[in-house]
Amino acid sequence: MKKIILVTLFLIALACQKKDQTEKTTTVKDEHSYSKPELAVVKHLDLDIKVDFDTQTISGKASWLIDNISKGNEIIFDENTLNITKVTLGDDEKETKFELGAAAEFHGKPLKITIEPNTTKVNIYYSTTKDAVALQWLTPEQTADKKKPFVFSQGESIWSRTWIPCQDSPGIRFTYNAKVTVPKDLLAVMSASVNPQQKNDTGVYTFKQDKAIPSYLMAIAVGDIEFKAIDNRTGVYAEPSLIKKAAWEFAELGKMVVAAEKLYGPYRWGRYDVLVLPPSFPYGGMENPNLTFLTPGVIAGDRSLTSLLAHELGHSWSGNLVTNATWDDIWLNEGFTTYVEHRIGEEIFGKEEAEMQDVLTRKDLDDNIAEYGATSPDTRLKVSLTGRNPDDGISQIPYVKGYNFLKVIEQAVGREKFDPFIKNYFDAHAFQSITTEDFVKYINDNLIKGDKTLADKIKLEDWIYKPGVPSNITSVHSDDFTAIDNIQKEWRKTGVKGLSQKIKSTTEKQHFIDYLPADITAEEMAAIDAEFSFTKNGNFVIKRQWFVQAIRHEYKTAYPAIEQFMIATSRTGSLMTLYKELVKTPEGKTWAKQIFDKAKSGYHATTVQAVGDLLK
Ligand SMILES: [Zn+2]
Repeated sequence: MKKIILVTLFLIALACQKKDQTEKTTTVKDEHSYSKPELAVVKHLDLDIKVDFDTQTISGKASWLIDNISKGNEIIFDENTLNITKVTLGDDEKETKFELGAAAEFHGKPLKITIEPNTTKVNIYYSTTKDAVALQWLTPEQTADKKKPFVFSQGESIWSRTWIPCQDSPGIRFTYNAKVTVPKDLLAVMSASVNPQQKNDTGVYTFKQDKAIPSYLMAIAVGDIEFKAIDNRTGVYAEPSLIKKAAWEFAELGKMVVAAEKLYGPYRWGRYDVLVLPPSFPYGGMENPNLTFLTPGVIAGDRSLTSLLAHELGHSWSGNLVTNATWDDIWLNEGFTTYVEHRIGEEIFGKEEAEMQDVLTRKDLDDNIAEYGATSPDTRLKVSLTGRNPDDGISQIPYVKGYNFLKVIEQAVGREKFDPFIKNYFDAHAFQSITTEDFVKYINDNLIKGDKTLADKIKLEDWIYKPGVPSNITSVHSDDFTAIDNIQKEWRKTGVKGLSQKIKSTTEKQHFIDYLPADITAEEMAAIDAEFSFTKNGNFVIKRQWFVQAIRHEYKTAYPAIEQFMIATSRTGSLMTLYKELVKTPEGKTWAKQIFDKAKSGYHATTVQAVGDLLK
């Protein structure tokens, strides 16, 4: 998710992209939205809101341009914990009736609005409440600079309805304009085609997203934010104390966009910028269009974790351009993006690094399958999340199993066929939301084409609809990792001195840590730590992996650092890895609860929920 514009270039780009904007609204039923888009559907949003830090609320008017397809008397929106005060129709704002239906856990309530057969505009007056899951309000102390408050949104998966009344389904797309009023000393940015690059005197900012996007990609952040350009189409936003570091860390952003374009065709969104958020951001990154939201944990000081950016950038094709129509189809977003991430990584960091990443991804897959059990329906690519919190579907499975499935197809047909296939797939579905079945039809029509031998080689149905991992998974190998495996066998005899000169990159260190001997002693852990300084100087990823081993092998020297790490960040996935390790022993579980009590006021609402459930 991630602005000075060459106005002319931008206008030319817009002209070229006009044809992209014929968006399609899918007719498949999304179990996580109350809306009935087949009867009446939104097309465009004009948002006029005020962000108030004193009351920690966003309030204003969401004006929706709609298509009353059925010419009926009702349109249904999703809302969750909002305070809806008034609804009017048309430009003359004639007041109309509205009604909230019964609430379902996670889903909020249907907002049923009475319309007329010829209604084209619905204006909803509302304010958010303290319970808005999407909004994280931070006190100055919770920011990097500790001077001004901050707020940011996280819409995926079904949380946008907690800050905007909307038809909250990834299958429904719309364009938007927004007018946002904020305190005069703060800057507002959004998932918009154009963002401001500096504060103005009025505190009023206007935005426009001219590509049709689904509601979960609506995003806003307000805070003491500065901008620094990287090149003419990429740049970084961050708090003042972080801006220089962030711009240095992400200096290769422009190069990444070019590498991705070489593979998958033009970047269609205009600018690509990155916003570095305060540490309570619950994810590594969120691919909000034009403006990736990113954890500060990626700023390692040595550019060692920038591969995460390749993932978020990849979503500009898979996810934001071609979107899963329902959350059951999330592998279409995340499996494809993991594949695109690896391909961008290979372009930027080379083949050896790509092979290492392949081996790491395979381990992730094996670990996740082992955790769920190979017959668990949650290990299918097409999952069933009906009645559940769709965030539950965002495990590693759609990422790593999806990636490995695409690798099988790549190997079966060769890159010379697969690369243009993927590019054509993105082109054919640009700015559309599609289901797994749409993908199956597309690959059968355009790649497999009735070739039985090829179909047997790919085993598409097994990969998508069956649990576990099919037997035709490709083999992975890395010479660099083999060399580390050999070191692993020797160091207990020969000592650890000099190892840090042989095991240098983050990927290599991660592999070394992951495969430390199961019976390693706390003394040996201390010797390794003295050689590599993982506890003190490791980057985010190194620390996370190292701390798992430290907990497992009771390396107590690292305990204060583990506690500090778990309090300082809110990245749900990484935290869950550590909490899960802790709860394996009774003493660990007690410690986990103590850490959670200290940390939870700084955690994001979704993180509190996930960790809270685990510790119950
Ligand atoms: Zn992703």
